Amino acid sequence: MEMTLADPRTDFDVLIIGAGLSGIGVARYLKKECPEKSFAVIEEKPCVGGTWDLFRYPGIRSDSDMHTMGYAFKPWTRPKAISDGGSILGYIREASRENGIDPHIRFERRVREASYDSGAQRWTLTIDHGGQTEILTCRFLFSCAGYYDHHKGYLPEWDGYADYKGTLVHPQFWPEDLDYTGKRVAIIGSGATAVTLLPSLAEKAAHVVQVQRSPTYIINRPSEDKYANWMHRWLPDRLAYALSRWRIILGGQMRRKKMAANIKAAKKFFIAGVAQELGDRVDWKKHFVPSYWPGQQRICAVPDGDMFQVLREGRASVETGEIDRFVAGGLVMKDGTKVEADIIVTATGLVLQFMGGMRVRVDGAEVDPGSLLIYKGFMYSNLPNLIYFTGYTNASWTLKVDLVAGFACRLLKHMDKIGATQVVARAGAAELAEKNTAIKFISGYFLRSAHLLPKHGKAFPWIHEQDYMWDRKTLKRGKVDDGSLEFSGGTPVDLPAEQRAGVAAAAE
Ligand SMILES: Cc1cc2nc3c(=O)[nH]c(=O)nc-3n(C[C@H](O)[C@H](O)[C@H](O)COP(=O)(O)OP(=O)(O)OC[C@H]3O[C@@H](n4cnc5c(N)ncnc54)[C@H](O)[C@@H]3O)c2cc1C
Repeated sequence: MEMTLADPRTDFDVLIIGAGLSGIGVARYLKKECPEKSFAVIEEKPCVGGTWDLFRYPGIRSDSDMHTMGYAFKPWTRPKAISDGGSILGYIREASRENGIDPHIRFERRVREASYDSGAQRWTLTIDHGGQTEILTCRFLFSCAGYYDHHKGYLPEWDGYADYKGTLVHPQFWPEDLDYTGKRVAIIGSGATAVTLLPSLAEKAAHVVQVQRSPTYIINRPSEDKYANWMHRWLPDRLAYALSRWRIILGGQMRRKKMAANIKAAKKFFIAGVAQELGDRVDWKKHFVPSYWPGQQRICAVPDGDMFQVLREGRASVETGEIDRFVAGGLVMKDGTKVEADIIVTATGLVLQFMGGMRVRVDGAEVDPGSLLIYKGFMYSNLPNLIYFTGYTNASWTLKVDLVAGFACRLLKHMDKIGATQVVARAGAAELAEKNTAIKFISGYFLRSAHLLPKHGKAFPWIHEQDYMWDRKTLKRGKVDDGSLEFSGGTPVDLPAEQRAGVAAAAE
């Protein structure tokens, strides 16, 4: 069903929130698999791209390979598998244009509230558009709003922060005109952003110091996938892409299994790699031996060892320990070490949020996001006609999004076939009481916000399996109606008290 930008429609079969990597991919599946469904994409920014438009710091790149971070339907044909942010942005925009998604996007609209009515089996979205309120309705809501707040980055509180006289920068809001040539730069952080910035800033800066509280696992990876490039030279793009994807997916699966089977050997392997890169020029035992096990946080890949190279050459260094305070000229560590810096980059992380920060209601009751259960990593307990799209922590984001998008289209078709207008992953008091509080993923940004976000239950289907092959089995080949979803013509939801805002919080 085609529409144009001037389309005055306010009611849709599906509304997709977000025009980032997920939203564009999901819109393409919907358009192809369910061409009769009307849909629009609601996007707060004036352009497509999400994360890859927001982050503009020097050297911004993926840390996944683009053969699995690319869409299944659009071959990644550029030679670099670990790609710069600009090329990823170009790829998403190209996908949007090529698949006729652009005319469906309503830009500069922020969804403030989503409210479901089981009587009408429809969602009503309250949208802020340049200070005016717009109302749109739909049968199905697809949340592709990402997992973090694009408006603010995480900043710990430090003593003396206001005393610092140099330039402070958060990577999420990098000033386009920041000149760091010949400057002394300190980067606070140990995640993917810090290790990307370090070699990049070291190209022009006088010296760059990475200041980290504790070490992270870092691995050297070639930026080009020579097998993929070889295949693209000799085979049609689609075939070469499919083969490269499978090689990477199966290789990753095998590595994860091997790692889980002998975690001590995995730790040794990562540390030996760093020791070999840095030799005796850097105290790698102090700066690169994490206290946690591999896999408990995302492992940082550095393309072609760029970070190790600047450390070996002395153009950059690492300081591991707690920051005591900011002072006029830089930082003082708890052990008394001074870090002089003209520029301090706070690569301290993201602020996670639920569904683009919007308020959610079901039959008038406001939902407490922190009390919801995750259903197979794409629905939430007792939220009807809503699918959310997220990625894996141990593999590329888009692998999961592609699978869920395919499943979502099958679900819509199935509902049409059986005449259902509402689907809900219903959880009663027994399931809701069974939250799994054992946290396997311990990245700081996740732990900080875990209490505000939906939870895993004790067992399938109330979990998000971090396993592509398992998801392929259940989402691609498994039955849509596997007995755990409730299909109806609009049975009232009667949101359990445990999931209502205010009630849930008071009970804690
Ligand atoms: C610096 C960085 C590097 C990363 N590198 C990798 C990587 O190498 N590999 C990997 O797999 N993952 C990576 N990720 C994770 C990355 O976020 C995903 O890969 C992917 O880009 C997420 O896409 P998305 O469309 O789901 O969300 P986003 O990119 O966050 O896009 C969400 C969109 O929704 C819009 N939106 C949000 N809320 C609302 C609202 N209320 N109303 C209207 N619009 C709204 C936003 O404006 C945005 O355009 C990285 C993340 C960051 C921050």
